[in-house]
Amino acid sequence: MNEFQERKINLTWREPKRSYDVVIVGGGGHGLAAAYYLATRHGITNVAVLERNYIGSGNSGRNTTIIRANYGIPESVKFYQRSVDLYQSLEAETDRWIMHKQKGLINVAHNEAGLRTERARAAVNAAFGSKTDFITPAEVKKLCPQIDLSGGGEYPVLGASYHHSGSTARHDRVVWAYAEGAMQRGVDVHQRISVTGMLKDGDKVTGVQTTAGPISAKVVMSAVGGQVTQLADMAGVRLPIRSHPLQAFVTNHYSLSFEPILASPALLFYVSQTARGEMLMGAEIDRQPSYSYGTGHHLLQTTSYRAITLLPFLRDLRILRQWTGVCDMSPDYSPIMGFTGVEGFIITSGWGTWGFKGIPASGEQMAELIATGKTPELIAPFALDRFARDRTMADRGSAGTH
Ligand SMILES: Cc1cc2nc3c(=O)[nH]c(=O)nc-3n(C[C@H](O)[C@H](O)[C@H](O)COP(=O)(O)OP(=O)(O)OC[C@H]3O[C@@H](n4cnc5c(N)ncnc54)[C@H](O)[C@@H]3O)c2cc1C
Repeated sequence: MNEFQERKINLTWREPKRSYDVVIVGGGGHGLAAAYYLATRHGITNVAVLERNYIGSGNSGRNTTIIRANYGIPESVKFYQRSVDLYQSLEAETDRWIMHKQKGLINVAHNEAGLRTERARAAVNAAFGSKTDFITPAEVKKLCPQIDLSGGGEYPVLGASYHHSGSTARHDRVVWAYAEGAMQRGVDVHQRISVTGMLKDGDKVTGVQTTAGPISAKVVMSAVGGQVTQLADMAGVRLPIRSHPLQAFVTNHYSLSFEPILASPALLFYVSQTARGEMLMGAEIDRQPSYSYGTGHHLLQTTSYRAITLLPFLRDLRILRQWTGVCDMSPDYSPIMGFTGVEGFIITSGWGTWGFKGIPASGEQMAELIATGKTPELIAPFALDRFARDRTMADRGSAGTH
Protein backbone atom coordinates (compact mmCIF):
# COMPACT_ATOMS: atom_id res chain seq x y z
CA MET A 1 0.00 0.00 0.00
CA ASN A 2 1.33 3.47 -0.76
CA GLU A 3 0.12 6.81 0.54
CA PHE A 4 -2.22 7.37 -2.41
CA GLN A 5 -4.22 4.21 -1.71
CA GLU A 6 -6.64 4.40 1.19
CA ARG A 7 -9.84 3.01 2.55
CA LYS A 8 -12.66 5.54 2.58
CA ILE A 9 -12.64 7.61 5.74
CA ASN A 10 -15.92 7.28 7.55
CA LEU A 11 -16.85 10.79 8.67
CA THR A 12 -20.45 11.57 9.64
CA TRP A 13 -21.44 15.24 9.50
CA ARG A 14 -24.45 16.24 11.63
CA GLU A 15 -26.28 19.53 12.21
CA PRO A 16 -25.02 21.46 15.26
CA LYS A 17 -27.09 21.17 18.45
CA ARG A 18 -27.75 24.20 20.65
CA SER A 19 -26.11 22.62 23.68
CA TYR A 20 -23.25 20.21 24.47
CA ASP A 21 -21.42 19.00 27.56
CA VAL A 22 -18.12 20.01 25.96
CA VAL A 23 -17.37 22.41 23.12
CA ILE A 24 -13.85 22.24 21.69
CA VAL A 25 -12.85 25.21 19.56
CA GLY A 26 -10.37 24.23 16.84
CA GLY A 27 -10.36 21.13 14.64
CA GLY A 28 -6.60 20.61 14.61
CA GLY A 29 -4.82 17.63 16.11
CA HIS A 30 -5.12 18.84 19.69
CA GLY A 31 -8.86 19.54 19.59
CA LEU A 32 -9.72 16.31 17.78
CA ALA A 33 -7.46 14.13 19.94
CA ALA A 34 -9.12 15.50 23.10
CA ALA A 35 -12.53 14.69 21.59
CA TYR A 36 -11.36 11.20 20.65
CA TYR A 37 -10.01 10.42 24.14
CA LEU A 38 -13.12 11.89 25.81
CA ALA A 39 -15.19 9.41 23.79
CA THR A 40 -12.90 6.38 23.97
CA ARG A 41 -11.50 6.66 27.50
CA HIS A 42 -14.36 8.32 29.37
CA GLY A 43 -17.53 7.61 27.35
CA ILE A 44 -18.21 11.37 27.02
CA THR A 45 -19.68 11.89 23.56
CA ASN A 46 -21.99 14.90 23.91
CA VAL A 47 -19.08 16.88 22.50
CA ALA A 48 -18.73 19.30 19.57
CA VAL A 49 -15.53 20.30 17.81
CA LEU A 50 -15.99 23.63 16.01
CA GLU A 51 -13.59 24.37 13.16
CA ARG A 52 -13.73 27.66 11.28
CA ASN A 53 -12.15 26.19 8.14
CA TYR A 54 -11.65 22.46 7.41
CA ILE A 55 -10.14 20.02 9.91
CA GLY A 56 -6.35 20.03 9.80
CA SER A 57 -6.25 23.36 7.96
CA GLY A 58 -4.12 24.93 10.71
CA ASN A 59 -0.65 23.95 11.86
CA SER A 60 -1.64 20.30 12.22
CA GLY A 61 -1.69 20.06 8.42
CA ARG A 62 1.35 22.29 7.87
CA ASN A 63 4.10 20.87 10.03
CA THR A 64 7.21 18.85 9.28
CA THR A 65 5.79 15.84 11.20
CA ILE A 66 8.67 15.18 13.58
CA ILE A 67 7.89 13.19 16.71
CA ARG A 68 10.44 12.96 19.50
CA ALA A 69 10.89 13.07 23.27
CA ASN A 70 14.54 14.16 23.53
CA TYR A 71 13.82 17.18 25.70
CA GLY A 72 16.08 18.86 28.21
CA ILE A 73 14.00 18.85 31.42
CA PRO A 74 12.45 15.87 33.24
CA GLU A 75 8.80 17.03 33.03
CA SER A 76 9.02 17.45 29.25
CA VAL A 77 10.84 14.16 28.66
CA LYS A 78 8.11 12.30 30.56
CA PHE A 79 5.25 14.12 28.82
CA TYR A 80 6.61 13.74 25.28
CA GLN A 81 7.65 10.13 25.87
CA ARG A 82 3.99 9.40 26.69
CA SER A 83 3.10 10.96 23.33
CA VAL A 84 5.77 8.95 21.51
CA ASP A 85 4.33 5.78 23.07
CA LEU A 86 0.75 6.69 22.09
CA TYR A 87 1.88 7.45 18.52
CA GLN A 88 3.52 4.04 18.30
CA SER A 89 0.22 2.29 19.03
CA LEU A 90 -2.12 4.74 17.25
CA GLU A 91 -2.35 2.76 14.00
CA ALA A 92 -3.33 -0.42 15.84
CA GLU A 93 -5.78 1.46 18.06
CA THR A 94 -7.58 3.41 15.31
CA ASP A 95 -7.10 0.89 12.49
CA ARG A 96 -5.83 3.80 10.38
CA TRP A 97 -2.51 3.96 8.57
CA ILE A 98 -0.91 7.21 9.76
CA MET A 99 2.37 6.31 8.05
CA HIS A 100 4.21 6.29 11.36
CA LYS A 101 7.89 5.53 10.80
CA GLN A 102 10.65 5.32 13.37
CA LYS A 103 13.78 6.84 11.84
CA GLY A 104 16.05 7.94 14.68
CA LEU A 105 16.98 11.57 15.19
CA ILE A 106 20.56 12.86 15.13
CA ASN A 107 21.27 16.22 16.81
CA VAL A 108 24.77 17.23 15.74
CA ALA A 109 27.18 19.41 17.76
CA HIS A 110 29.79 21.68 16.16
CA ASN A 111 31.59 23.09 19.19
CA GLU A 112 32.29 22.46 22.89
CA ALA A 113 29.04 24.09 24.05
CA GLY A 114 27.07 21.96 21.61
CA LEU A 115 28.80 18.80 22.81
CA ARG A 116 27.91 19.63 26.42
CA THR A 117 24.27 20.20 25.42
CA GLU A 118 23.99 16.90 23.55
CA ARG A 119 25.71 14.94 26.35
CA ALA A 120 23.32 16.50 28.89
CA ARG A 121 20.35 15.74 26.63
CA ALA A 122 21.35 12.06 26.40
CA ALA A 123 21.80 11.84 30.18
CA VAL A 124 18.50 13.50 31.10
CA ASN A 125 16.62 11.45 28.49
CA ALA A 126 18.06 8.20 29.85
CA ALA A 127 17.21 9.21 33.41
CA PHE A 128 13.56 9.91 32.60
CA GLY A 129 12.66 7.08 30.27
CA SER A 130 13.61 8.13 26.73
CA LYS A 131 16.37 6.40 24.77
CA THR A 132 19.04 8.84 23.58
CA ASP A 133 22.77 8.05 23.27
CA PHE A 134 25.75 10.31 22.80
CA ILE A 135 27.55 9.20 19.61
CA THR A 136 30.88 9.89 17.87
CA PRO A 137 31.34 11.46 14.40
CA ALA A 138 32.12 8.01 12.97
CA GLU A 139 28.80 6.72 14.30
CA VAL A 140 27.02 9.75 12.82
CA LYS A 141 28.54 8.92 9.42
CA LYS A 142 27.36 5.33 9.70
CA LEU A 143 23.78 6.42 10.41
CA CYS A 144 23.85 9.20 7.80
CA PRO A 145 26.37 8.40 5.03
CA GLN A 146 25.49 11.59 3.10
CA ILE A 147 26.80 13.92 5.82
CA ASP A 148 30.00 15.95 5.30
CA LEU A 149 31.61 15.63 8.75
CA SER A 150 33.84 18.63 8.04
CA GLY A 151 30.72 20.82 7.74
CA GLY A 152 32.28 22.61 4.77
CA GLY A 153 35.28 23.41 7.00
CA GLU A 154 33.13 25.81 9.04
CA TYR A 155 30.81 23.55 11.07
CA PRO A 156 32.70 20.30 11.80
CA VAL A 157 30.62 17.55 13.38
CA LEU A 158 32.31 16.78 16.71
CA GLY A 159 29.65 14.47 18.12
CA ALA A 160 25.88 14.13 18.39
CA SER A 161 23.01 12.78 20.39
CA TYR A 162 21.02 9.97 18.79
CA HIS A 163 17.38 9.72 19.82
CA HIS A 164 16.24 6.22 18.91
CA SER A 165 12.48 6.87 18.88
CA GLY A 166 12.66 9.99 16.68
CA SER A 167 9.97 9.37 14.06
CA THR A 168 7.54 10.91 11.59
CA ALA A 169 3.86 10.33 10.75
CA ARG A 170 1.68 11.78 8.01
CA HIS A 171 0.12 14.87 9.65
CA ASP A 172 -3.31 15.01 8.00
CA ARG A 173 -3.79 11.27 8.53
CA VAL A 174 -3.33 11.81 12.26
CA VAL A 175 -6.05 14.49 12.16
CA TRP A 176 -8.42 12.22 10.18
CA ALA A 177 -7.77 9.20 12.40
CA TYR A 178 -8.76 11.15 15.51
CA ALA A 179 -11.73 12.82 13.78
CA GLU A 180 -13.08 9.53 12.47
CA GLY A 181 -12.61 7.74 15.79
CA ALA A 182 -14.40 10.52 17.67
CA MET A 183 -17.25 10.88 15.14
CA GLN A 184 -17.89 7.13 15.02
CA ARG A 185 -18.55 7.27 18.75
CA GLY A 186 -21.03 10.15 18.49
CA VAL A 187 -18.88 13.30 18.75
CA ASP A 188 -20.02 16.12 16.41
CA VAL A 189 -17.36 17.79 14.30
CA HIS A 190 -18.53 20.95 12.54
CA GLN A 191 -16.47 22.56 9.80
CA ARG A 192 -16.89 26.16 8.60
CA ILE A 193 -18.22 27.33 11.96
CA SER A 194 -16.21 30.10 13.54
CA VAL A 195 -16.35 31.04 17.22
CA THR A 196 -16.81 34.79 17.45
CA GLY A 197 -17.43 35.31 21.16
CA MET A 198 -18.14 33.65 24.51
CA LEU A 199 -21.49 33.22 26.27
CA LYS A 200 -21.00 34.27 29.87
CA ASP A 201 -22.78 34.29 33.19
CA GLY A 202 -20.77 36.88 35.11
CA ASP A 203 -17.15 35.78 34.72
CA LYS A 204 -18.09 32.17 34.02
CA VAL A 205 -18.02 30.89 30.42
CA THR A 206 -21.26 29.05 29.59
CA GLY A 207 -20.85 28.51 25.87
CA VAL A 208 -19.77 30.09 22.60
CA GLN A 209 -21.19 32.56 20.14
CA THR A 210 -20.61 31.26 16.60
CA THR A 211 -21.33 32.09 12.99
CA ALA A 212 -24.07 29.43 13.27
CA GLY A 213 -25.59 30.97 16.41
CA PRO A 214 -25.05 30.50 20.16
CA ILE A 215 -24.08 27.08 21.54
CA SER A 216 -24.05 26.46 25.28
CA ALA A 217 -21.62 24.12 27.02
CA LYS A 218 -20.53 23.09 30.49
CA VAL A 219 -16.90 23.30 29.39
CA VAL A 220 -15.33 25.23 26.52
CA MET A 221 -11.83 24.19 25.52
CA SER A 222 -9.65 26.34 23.28
CA ALA A 223 -7.45 24.41 20.85
CA VAL A 224 -7.07 27.12 18.24
CA GLY A 225 -3.29 27.16 17.66
CA GLY A 226 -1.94 30.56 16.61
CA GLN A 227 -5.29 32.34 17.17
CA VAL A 228 -5.33 31.57 20.89
CA THR A 229 -4.77 35.07 22.30
CA GLN A 230 -7.82 36.31 20.37
CA LEU A 231 -10.00 33.46 21.62
CA ALA A 232 -8.76 33.69 25.22
CA ASP A 233 -9.42 37.42 25.15
CA MET A 234 -13.10 36.65 24.43
CA ALA A 235 -13.14 34.65 27.70
CA GLY A 236 -11.34 37.40 29.62
CA VAL A 237 -8.02 35.52 29.84
CA ARG A 238 -4.70 37.17 29.02
CA LEU A 239 -2.03 34.72 27.85
CA PRO A 240 1.77 35.06 27.65
CA ILE A 241 1.69 33.92 24.02
CA ARG A 242 2.94 35.54 20.83
CA SER A 243 2.01 34.29 17.40
CA HIS A 244 4.94 33.89 15.01
CA PRO A 245 4.92 32.56 11.44
CA LEU A 246 6.98 29.43 10.79
CA GLN A 247 7.89 28.32 7.30
CA ALA A 248 8.99 25.00 5.82
CA PHE A 249 9.72 23.62 2.35
CA VAL A 250 10.30 20.44 0.35
CA THR A 251 12.57 19.65 -2.56
CA ASN A 252 11.89 17.41 -5.51
CA HIS A 253 12.46 13.67 -5.29
CA TYR A 254 15.86 12.45 -4.02
CA SER A 255 16.36 9.04 -5.54
CA LEU A 256 18.46 7.56 -2.72
CA SER A 257 17.23 6.72 0.73
CA PHE A 258 17.89 9.22 3.55
CA GLU A 259 17.04 7.27 6.69
CA PRO A 260 17.37 9.47 9.79
CA ILE A 261 16.08 12.85 10.84
CA LEU A 262 19.07 15.18 11.01
CA ALA A 263 19.10 18.41 13.03
CA SER A 264 21.70 21.02 13.79
CA PRO A 265 20.60 23.24 16.69
CA ALA A 266 23.55 25.56 15.94
CA LEU A 267 22.79 25.88 12.22
CA LEU A 268 19.05 26.22 13.01
CA PHE A 269 17.73 23.66 10.56
CA TYR A 270 16.50 20.08 10.40
CA VAL A 271 15.79 17.72 7.54
CA SER A 272 14.10 14.39 6.85
CA GLN A 273 12.86 12.51 3.80
CA THR A 274 9.15 12.14 3.08
CA ALA A 275 7.54 8.89 1.93
CA ARG A 276 7.55 10.36 -1.61
CA GLY A 277 11.31 10.87 -1.45
CA GLU A 278 11.21 14.65 -1.11
CA MET A 279 13.65 16.29 1.33
CA LEU A 280 11.60 18.17 3.92
CA MET A 281 13.26 21.07 5.71
CA GLY A 282 12.35 23.30 8.58
CA ALA A 283 14.05 26.18 10.28
CA GLU A 284 13.40 28.86 12.89
CA ILE A 285 10.35 31.09 13.35
CA ASP A 286 10.06 34.51 11.75
CA ARG A 287 11.28 36.88 14.46
CA GLN A 288 8.47 39.38 13.86
CA PRO A 289 5.20 38.24 15.52
CA SER A 290 2.30 38.31 13.04
CA TYR A 291 -0.60 36.31 11.62
CA SER A 292 0.94 36.32 8.15
CA TYR A 293 0.82 33.18 6.03
CA GLY A 294 3.19 34.76 3.50
CA THR A 295 6.39 32.99 2.47
CA GLY A 296 9.74 34.54 1.66
CA HIS A 297 12.87 33.95 -0.39
CA HIS A 298 15.08 34.85 2.59
CA LEU A 299 14.20 31.63 4.44
CA LEU A 300 14.90 29.49 1.37
CA GLN A 301 18.26 31.14 0.87
CA THR A 302 19.53 30.93 4.46
CA THR A 303 18.18 27.45 5.21
CA SER A 304 19.41 25.98 1.93
CA TYR A 305 22.85 27.44 2.57
CA ARG A 306 22.98 25.92 6.06
CA ALA A 307 21.64 22.55 4.92
CA ILE A 308 24.17 22.27 2.08
CA THR A 309 26.95 22.90 4.61
CA LEU A 310 26.25 19.49 6.11
CA LEU A 311 24.55 17.72 3.21
CA PRO A 312 26.25 18.75 -0.07
CA PHE A 313 23.98 16.47 -2.19
CA LEU A 314 21.08 18.87 -1.54
CA ARG A 315 22.76 21.32 -3.94
CA ASP A 316 21.50 19.24 -6.86
CA LEU A 317 17.85 19.25 -5.79
CA ARG A 318 15.18 21.85 -6.56
CA ILE A 319 12.74 23.44 -4.13
CA LEU A 320 9.18 22.35 -4.95
CA ARG A 321 6.90 23.90 -2.35
CA GLN A 322 7.08 26.31 0.57
CA TRP A 323 4.38 27.09 3.13
CA THR A 324 3.73 28.79 6.46
CA GLY A 325 1.83 28.23 9.70
CA VAL A 326 1.20 30.62 12.57
CA CYS A 327 2.61 29.29 15.85
CA ASP A 328 1.48 30.04 19.41
CA MET A 329 4.87 30.62 21.05
CA SER A 330 5.08 30.51 24.84
CA PRO A 331 7.92 32.41 26.54
CA ASP A 332 9.49 29.24 28.01
CA TYR A 333 9.04 27.05 24.89
CA SER A 334 6.70 24.71 26.77
CA PRO A 335 2.98 24.13 26.24
CA ILE A 336 0.25 25.58 28.45
CA MET A 337 -2.44 23.05 29.33
CA GLY A 338 -5.33 23.16 31.75
CA PHE A 339 -7.43 25.59 33.79
CA THR A 340 -7.30 29.31 33.11
CA GLY A 341 -8.80 30.85 36.24
CA VAL A 342 -12.06 31.48 34.35
CA GLU A 343 -14.66 28.88 35.24
CA GLY A 344 -15.85 26.85 32.26
CA PHE A 345 -12.87 27.80 30.05
CA ILE A 346 -9.74 25.65 29.62
CA ILE A 347 -6.91 25.70 27.11
CA THR A 348 -4.39 23.55 25.33
CA SER A 349 -1.96 26.03 23.89
CA GLY A 350 1.62 27.21 23.59
CA TRP A 351 2.30 24.43 21.11
CA GLY A 352 4.53 26.71 19.08
CA THR A 353 6.79 24.92 16.65
CA TRP A 354 6.75 21.65 18.62
CA GLY A 355 3.10 20.63 19.09
CA PHE A 356 2.54 17.91 16.47
CA LYS A 357 4.45 15.42 18.60
CA GLY A 358 2.38 16.38 21.65
CA ILE A 359 -1.05 15.70 20.10
CA PRO A 360 -1.77 12.22 21.55
CA ALA A 361 -0.57 12.94 25.11
CA SER A 362 -2.20 16.36 25.29
CA GLY A 363 -5.47 14.93 23.93
CA GLU A 364 -5.40 12.09 26.43
CA GLN A 365 -4.51 14.28 29.41
CA MET A 366 -6.93 17.12 28.59
CA ALA A 367 -9.72 14.54 28.20
CA GLU A 368 -8.90 13.24 31.68
CA LEU A 369 -8.90 16.78 33.08
CA ILE A 370 -12.34 17.43 31.58
CA ALA A 371 -13.76 14.08 32.71
CA THR A 372 -12.46 14.25 36.29
CA GLY A 373 -12.28 18.01 36.89
CA LYS A 374 -8.72 17.48 38.15
CA THR A 375 -5.37 18.21 36.53
CA PRO A 376 -3.52 14.94 35.77
CA GLU A 377 -0.05 14.70 37.30
CA LEU A 378 1.70 14.46 33.92
CA ILE A 379 0.52 17.91 32.80
CA ALA A 380 0.39 19.70 36.17
CA PRO A 381 3.79 21.38 35.55
CA PHE A 382 2.41 22.90 32.32
CA ALA A 383 -0.42 24.87 33.97
CA LEU A 384 -0.91 28.53 33.06
CA ASP A 385 -0.36 29.70 36.64
CA ARG A 386 3.29 28.62 36.45
CA PHE A 387 4.09 32.09 35.11
CA ALA A 388 2.51 33.79 38.13
CA ARG A 389 4.19 31.29 40.48
CA ASP A 390 7.61 31.84 38.88
CA ARG A 391 7.82 28.15 37.93
CA THR A 392 8.47 28.44 34.21
CA MET A 393 9.50 25.35 32.23
CA ALA A 394 12.33 26.83 30.19
CA ASP A 395 13.80 24.17 27.96
CA ARG A 396 16.07 24.99 25.08
CA GLY A 397 15.54 21.43 23.86
CA SER A 398 11.85 22.20 23.26
CA ALA A 399 12.36 23.56 19.81
CA GLY A 400 15.27 21.91 18.06
CA THR A 401 15.92 25.14 16.18
CA HIS A 402 16.21 27.60 19.05
C1 LIG B 1 5.97 24.85 9.31
C2 LIG B 1 5.70 24.15 10.63
C3 LIG B 1 6.49 23.05 10.98
C4 LIG B 1 6.24 22.40 12.19
N1 LIG B 1 6.94 21.25 12.46
C5 LIG B 1 6.66 20.54 13.58
C6 LIG B 1 7.30 19.29 13.81
O1 LIG B 1 8.11 18.81 12.99
N2 LIG B 1 7.01 18.62 14.95
C7 LIG B 1 6.14 19.12 15.88
O2 LIG B 1 5.95 18.48 16.90
N3 LIG B 1 5.46 20.26 15.65
C8 LIG B 1 5.71 20.99 14.53
N4 LIG B 1 5.02 22.16 14.28
C9 LIG B 1 4.05 22.65 15.26
C10 LIG B 1 2.72 21.91 15.15
O3 LIG B 1 2.29 21.86 13.81
C11 LIG B 1 1.64 22.62 15.99
O4 LIG B 1 2.13 22.91 17.27
C12 LIG B 1 0.39 21.76 16.13
O5 LIG B 1 -0.05 21.30 14.89
C13 LIG B 1 -0.70 22.57 16.80
O6 LIG B 1 -1.92 21.87 16.72
P1 LIG B 1 -3.26 22.56 17.22
O7 LIG B 1 -4.31 21.55 17.09
O8 LIG B 1 -3.00 23.19 18.55
O9 LIG B 1 -3.44 23.80 16.23
P2 LIG B 1 -3.94 23.86 14.71
O10 LIG B 1 -3.60 22.62 13.97
O11 LIG B 1 -3.41 25.15 14.17
O12 LIG B 1 -5.50 23.90 14.83
C14 LIG B 1 -6.19 25.00 15.32
C15 LIG B 1 -7.48 25.11 14.53
O13 LIG B 1 -8.31 26.10 15.14
C16 LIG B 1 -9.05 26.73 14.11
N5 LIG B 1 -9.56 28.00 14.64
C17 LIG B 1 -8.84 29.11 14.95
N6 LIG B 1 -9.65 30.07 15.42
C18 LIG B 1 -10.91 29.55 15.41
C19 LIG B 1 -12.19 30.06 15.77
N7 LIG B 1 -12.33 31.31 16.26
N8 LIG B 1 -13.28 29.27 15.63
C20 LIG B 1 -13.16 27.99 15.15
N9 LIG B 1 -11.96 27.46 14.80
C21 LIG B 1 -10.85 28.23 14.93
C22 LIG B 1 -8.05 26.86 12.98
O14 LIG B 1 -8.69 27.01 11.73
C23 LIG B 1 -7.26 25.57 13.09
O15 LIG B 1 -7.73 24.55 12.21
C24 LIG B 1 5.23 22.86 13.08
C25 LIG B 1 4.47 23.97 12.72
C26 LIG B 1 4.67 24.60 11.50
C27 LIG B 1 3.83 25.78 11.13
